[in-house]
Amino acid sequence: MSFQITKVEARIANYSLHQDRVIITSLGIHDRSRYLIITLTDELENQGFGEAATVMIWSGEAAETGLWIVQNRIAPLLTGSHYDHPSEILTILDRALQGNPFLKASIDIAAWDLWARRQEKPVSALIGDREPVESVPTRFSIGAYSVEDTVRLAVESWEAGIRTLKIKTGVPGLDDVARLKAVRERLGEEPILTIDANGAYQTEDQAVAAIEALLPFNLALVEQPTPRDRIGMMARVKQRVDVPILADESIFTPGELAEALDCDAMDLLSLYPGKNGGFTNSLKMAQTAQNAGKYCVIGSNMETDLGQAAMVCLAASLTAFPVEEYASDLMTGLIYTATSTSPAVELKNGRLVTPLGTGFGVEPLHD
Ligand SMILES: [Mg+2]
Repeated sequence: MSFQITKVEARIANYSLHQDRVIITSLGIHDRSRYLIITLTDELENQGFGEAATVMIWSGEAAETGLWIVQNRIAPLLTGSHYDHPSEILTILDRALQGNPFLKASIDIAAWDLWARRQEKPVSALIGDREPVESVPTRFSIGAYSVEDTVRLAVESWEAGIRTLKIKTGVPGLDDVARLKAVRERLGEEPILTIDANGAYQTEDQAVAAIEALLPFNLALVEQPTPRDRIGMMARVKQRVDVPILADESIFTPGELAEALDCDAMDLLSLYPGKNGGFTNSLKMAQTAQNAGKYCVIGSNMETDLGQAAMVCLAASLTAFPVEEYASDLMTGLIYTATSTSPAVELKNGRLVTPLGTGFGVEPLHD
C-alpha cells in the first residue's frame, strides 16, 4: 500500500518533571525535557506522530538543532515522494544525516504510526509475533541520591506497585553499598533490584569490584558497568561476575549489536527506538538478539507518553521481550507532572497499559 508524504512538521514542546524525582546519574542531571514533536501527513490527510527525546548529555541532540534539520533538510527531502513501507523513509534519513538517532527515530515512528493508521490497525498487528500483552511491568529508576532519598524513592515506587527497582550507581561521593543495604533493610528481599552504572566504572577491575560489593543485595542484573565505547571491557567483566549484564549505552545500532554479540559482551539488551535511530532498527535488533539467545528490555531516555506508546508497543508485541521476567523502563508517568497525549498512556500498579487504538494508539496534545 503506497503512501505519499505531503507534509513534515516539527514543533518544540516543554515538559515539567516532579522536582523531587529528577533523574541524576553518572552522566549528569536531567531536570527538564525540551523535546521535538513530529507530525507527518499523507495525501489522504492521515497523520502520524513521533517524539524526539532530545537530551544533550545522552545523544548530543537538542530540540532546536532537530527543528532546524527537519525544516531545512528532512522536510524537503521527504515531501512529495511515495513510499511502500515506512522503513524506506529511514533509509533516506540515514543517507542524508549522520547521527541524530532520536530525531531519526521520531520521524520513523511517525511513519509507522501513519502507515498503521492508513490501514486502521494498531502497529502491534503489523509487527507482532504474539497478541500484544495487556500491560508491561516497569522498573523505577532511582537516581544517584543519598541513602535517605534512595530509600524514600524506593518506598514510594514499591507502594505504587512497581516490583523492580533500578538504582543508579557509580557516582563519586555516594556509598552505593550503603544505599542498596538500606533499601533491602527497609523493603526486604521481595523487590527485584538492578543497578545501572551508566558506564561509570572506568576499568575492568573497578567494575568487577563495584559489582561484587553489591552482589550480596541480590541483584537481578547489572546495567552498563563499563564506558559506552569499551565493549571489549564489558565482555571481560561479564566473564568475571556471576550476574547477568545488560548493555545499554554500548549498543545503539544494529552494527554495535553485531560487535557485542561477536565478543559475547552481554546477556540482555536495552532497546528503544530513540537510541536505536528508529523503530525499524529496534525491530531488527530485537530479532537479531533473540536469534542469538539474548533477551530484550525497553530502555528509555525520559520519553513522555508520546514516545512511550511506541516503546510499549515493541515490548508488548514481541516474544523477544520476556516482560514478566525482566521489567522495562516505562515509568515516566511517575516523573512528569502531566501526560503529553490523548488518551494518556496509563500506568497502573507498576505496569504500563498497552494502548489499543490505531497506529501507536495516542496523539500529542496541542499546546
Ligand atoms: Mg541505562
